[in-house]
Amino acid sequence: MNCPVCGGGCVQDAPVILDSLESVFSRCDKCRFRILDKSKPLKGRFYATPCSCNKRFIDEVFAHLYVILLEEGVLSGDEPLRVVGSPLIHPGFFMTAPPFLPPDSLVLLSPIVTREAGGRIVKEVPEVKGVVKCGDYVPGLTDLFLTSSPRTYELLAGCDVRAGVFTTAAGPIVTYKQQSVMHIEFPRLKNPKIQSVERHLDTHTPGICVDICAGVGTLGLCAARHGIREIILNDAWYAAAFWSAVNLHVNRMFFRVEDVAIRTTYDALKERPVGKDPVRIAESSGEQMITVYHGDCRELWKVLPQKPLCAVFDLFEKSDKEAIERFLHEWQSRVPGEVFIP
Ligand SMILES: [Zn+2]
Ligand SMILES: [Zn+2]
Repeated sequence: MNCPVCGGGCVQDAPVILDSLESVFSRCDKCRFRILDKSKPLKGRFYATPCSCNKRFIDEVFAHLYVILLEEGVLSGDEPLRVVGSPLIHPGFFMTAPPFLPPDSLVLLSPIVTREAGGRIVKEVPEVKGVVKCGDYVPGLTDLFLTSSPRTYELLAGCDVRAGVFTTAAGPIVTYKQQSVMHIEFPRLKNPKIQSVERHLDTHTPGICVDICAGVGTLGLCAARHGIREIILNDAWYAAAFWSAVNLHVNRMFFRVEDVAIRTTYDALKERPVGKDPVRIAESSGEQMITVYHGDCRELWKVLPQKPLCAVFDLFEKSDKEAIERFLHEWQSRVPGEVFIP
């Protein structure tokens, strides 16, 4: 599958990513490293170049970024190293030691970077695959009732598509997303929401599972990993719905499906970023039926089977209790079965 953002090879099948994990960020015996104090400015304008194995310790990559930001006049040299930004590793998974980065393995999320500096970084720092200018808000759709219009970060240069690896009791799943338009999740050793869904599936064994606000599809695909026969993933945000479809495709070998068809393109969905009436954008054929919809979750009942089902309701923003109650009341008056909040 070509990457929907850059057209390149950013998106690979899950087994390719999983096979790489053991060695992707490990050092060779020639790799050298120094640990830099992130709370202090970089001393001198020095950074080491990558090792002959093409990897470089993450702190040296940050020294390189710091020097470019100095040369571009973004930094004066008095700022601590950490102001450069946050490193988002590709593929992201739970790690116990800082990584030695191969080419194209880092998306830089930075509140201070400029377009010029971003362009130079992607050209001159081989480890960086994309540079995103971020703000102090959560990108994407966070509001259940779709009253506020979603904001996104800005991709300044390169490509910001990256994979994350999540562990389930039935085996790992790999989820891709475009980082500038989706909220950030850091893979942890144990994911409480995944575990909560697994406990629920274990005791209830539903025939149909609906992931109402699916995000990039992690919980719905976790249910698929556990063999649930029919799964419906939905999100009102175009990027979440599309990456759910991509993630169904890249993990298809873990499910009892023959094929996955994606019925739209990223650019076409972006034309109407916030969905209203649900539109089916992808589905699997085979023993397990997994479908992906782009639509307002309050309209999703229109396309659901009239059978008891288990609705997983994982809302990003949970502060508006009254609104959630209203939604749940509406949902339960229309959809048979239960609602489960992980
Ligand atoms: Zn890409
Ligand atoms: Zn090396």
